Amino acid sequence: WAKAEGRGRWAVYDPERSARDIARSALVAGLPAALDRGEFVLHYQPIVSLLEGSMLAVEALVRWQHPELGLIGPDRFIGLAEETGLIVRLGEWVLRQACRDAEAWRREFPGTRLVVSVNLAARQADDPAIVDTVADALASCGLPAELLQLELTESAVMGTAGEPLRSLHRLAALGVRLAIDDFGTGYSNLAYLRRLPIHCVKLAGPFVEGIRGDGPEAAVDHRDERIVDALVRLAHALELWVTAEAVETPVQVERLRALRCDTGQGRFFGPPVPAAEITARLRGSAA
Ligand code: C2E
Ligand code: MG
Ligand code: MG
Ligand code: MG
Repeated sequence: WAKAEGRGRWAVYDPERSARDIARSALVAGLPAALDRGEFVLHYQPIVSLLEGSMLAVEALVRWQHPELGLIGPDRFIGLAEETGLIVRLGEWVLRQACRDAEAWRREFPGTRLVVSVNLAARQADDPAIVDTVADALASCGLPAELLQLELTESAVMGTAGEPLRSLHRLAALGVRLAIDDFGTGYSNLAYLRRLPIHCVKLAGPFVEGIRGDGPEAAVDHRDERIVDALVRLAHALELWVTAEAVETPVQVERLRALRCDTGQGRFFGPPVPAAEITARLRGSAA
């Protein structure tokens, strides 16, 4: 008991933890200036048709090109940006940059109709100004609304009042596509789901990770595969597209295809890469 208490106390003064806290506050303090200096970059990850293998969309994933720390992933700063409210400005930059890149791809490759998918934080989606921001981002670069998809998590969709956000219908009316991100991990209110103007659900990585086929490791437990089966059927019954996240292996591709999942995203199809690499890939498939 004393030992446990000792450990508990020790954790309070954990030098590594305070070092982390200092690092964390240093990152928070640096965020606004980083935005002004243009240190954020977008990488894009292919979203590929499981039937045809063609790249139908790309997801924009933000990174911070830090002058000293190198390339920092969103998991280290998006939460901080949400807490401080900076996410609204950062998210608007992401949205506008992604629309510009998508419009450039549309002009260079008019036949491909590549959709760009942009993550919206709860705080952005909750702000009624989001509709005008999205409309302006589209209009100022000329991107057709149907080539933009917005990804919201289940909790962001439901808003703070436990009611689906009113803005969703206005965003859908603009013609943009709406997707539920990390589907199956939040509290899926199925009754609301059928009334939401959404086009797509993105099956959360953990369910896809659980699909390992019939190999010796996982032969006993197909529970995740059965969950994916149920979620795909539910989504299709509601006439929604289904994208599987975190697709890493050929076995997963084969199983997801058998389960009638529409599109996949993950290391198997390619990691997030700078815009120029997406351009090169489009050039390759046009040739
Ligand atoms: P997300 O929207 O669910 O994005 C998918 C994450 O899965 C990305 O992590 C991606 O790099 C990662 N991923 C790609 N391939 C694989 C794979 O084969 N296996 C596994 N396990 N994971 C894979 P990333 O880039 O670190 O982004 C993390 C999260 O940060 C995103 O999750 C999203 O919630 C958030 N985020 C990224 N960019 C933005 C943004 O511009 N705005 C907002 N609000 N959030 C963003
Ligand atoms: Mg996403
Ligand atoms: Mg996701
Ligand atoms: Mg996520």
